[in-house]
Amino acid sequence: MYIKSRNLLLGHKIAVNKTEKYWKGLEYGKIYKTVCECGREYYPPQAECSFCRKETEWVEIDGYGVVETFTVVQSVPSGFEWIKAYTIAIARFGNVRVMGWGNESVKVGDRVRAYTQKDESGVWKVYFEVV
Ligand SMILES: [Zn+2]
Repeated sequence: MYIKSRNLLLGHKIAVNKTEKYWKGLEYGKIYKTVCECGREYYPPQAECSFCRKETEWVEIDGYGVVETFTVVQSVPSGFEWIKAYTIAIARFGNVRVMGWGNESVKVGDRVRAYTQKDESGVWKVYFEVV
């Protein structure tokens, strides 16, 4: 049994002054992580290391990842009306896990290539292609 709640439309501002390189990189097909000299790596990227507080270095993620988990979202939230359902996967690329949009056939263990693309609403996102 269900009751109907009110429709929600959420919007928020993202402060990007320290992560602008990541967001701009998506427009050029580049997906960045950050790496600290202490060895820690961050994705989503962090401009400063959480442990030693040093400034991190920007490094492009490339090559292939392996899908570790995924979910198919059937109840599409406001703001995604142009699609009926979508698949979000998390894949390991070396020492970091990257979240990206997949297709309905993606499964755990798949080898994927990550790429960027602008969606129907004009937002640049990370997608996975099974290879
Ligand atoms: Zn560090």
